[in-house]
Amino acid sequence: MKEVPLYRHPVDAVLHSKICDSVRRVVDSNRYILGEEVYSFEREFADVMGAAHCVSVGNGTDALEIALRAAGVKASDRVGLVANAGFYGSTAVRTIGAEPVYADVCDSSLNLGVDQLAGLFVMRPKVIIVTHLYGRLADIERIVLAASREGVQVIEDCAQSHGAMRDGRFAGTFGVAGCFSFYPTKNLGAIGDGGAIITADSNFAERVRQIRQYGWSSKYRNELEGGRNSRLDEIQAAVLRVKLPYLRAWNDARRHIASRYNSAFADLPLQCPPPFDESSVAHLYTMRVANREAFRRFMKEVGVATDVHYPVPDHQQAAYASSTTVGTLLVTDASCNTVVTLPCFPGLTDEEVGHVIDSVLRYFAKERV
Ligand SMILES: *Cc1c(COP(=O)(O)O)cnc(C)c1O
Repeated sequence: MKEVPLYRHPVDAVLHSKICDSVRRVVDSNRYILGEEVYSFEREFADVMGAAHCVSVGNGTDALEIALRAAGVKASDRVGLVANAGFYGSTAVRTIGAEPVYADVCDSSLNLGVDQLAGLFVMRPKVIIVTHLYGRLADIERIVLAASREGVQVIEDCAQSHGAMRDGRFAGTFGVAGCFSFYPTKNLGAIGDGGAIITADSNFAERVRQIRQYGWSSKYRNELEGGRNSRLDEIQAAVLRVKLPYLRAWNDARRHIASRYNSAFADLPLQCPPPFDESSVAHLYTMRVANREAFRRFMKEVGVATDVHYPVPDHQQAAYASSTTVGTLLVTDASCNTVVTLPCFPGLTDEEVGHVIDSVLRYFAKERV
């Protein structure tokens, strides 16, 4: 068998021709920025997510930065977030010149939890970013409730959690805004960069619309600070409109594979992720193993791609000499050394899933002798 890749785009012949048709439609439309495709996608994505407003932007990192600006974050402000989510939120905070304040995560979910909030609020953040890491909803209802008591706004990073839901509500609809990325490998991916912000607040949506378009209030009038150029283009919007109806089935396929892994690995000396119910869309199947490098070497030898999400916590990245943390980030620091991701995507064949499972079982059988 060929190596099982970490990701392969789920494009069959039918989807391929629909995507090509949608691109051709844009090429022939004579309108490439902020046209019908973008406005239609924004409407359709908002409807699917159960949000009042959706404003599309250039990518997920811009979505976070623009949402922070729309929430009023300035260079003198602090933003609370976790340090195990790949530095995307940190990039957004640092671009504004604001100060990231890092809290630890729960050992079970690797997400921010309510236990970490008291320490974070002492630092008086203006906003906290809650990342639904690996596609799993954080304890977002309780976090939003606690934050609102402190007058702190919550922005959700949903770049890995398109379609994750609890009690009928989707990721991105709990806080003041939800930020999405449509990077090609995300659960909903474009054929280039893309991002979006959803919100229930029409004033917030209007500020986002202004900031993505130079800060204009009307053409060539700049009345809002922090303006940018960050737009989804018509081609990406057209492709996303084709793919959006597949999201639910693709998420089901991811969950199904992740659940097979969890059952197969239940008795092994590794830490599996929690069960995959509707609150998780299994963006990444990330487990924890003690001897990660040996494990990855073995998997590579037997033809299974793996990766590490993420190896260096944000507060230890070389670009910034020092970072503010709420105490010691014990779970964050420990998990960065043990997390490893296995292939989990729609279109992964039964045979490939079987090969991944057999390989993991073989590694641990070998380790025991
Ligand atoms: C991918 C990702 C982003 C950034 O999205 P881009 O479109 O690549 O800028 C932000 N947050 C998380 C958690 C991500 O996984």
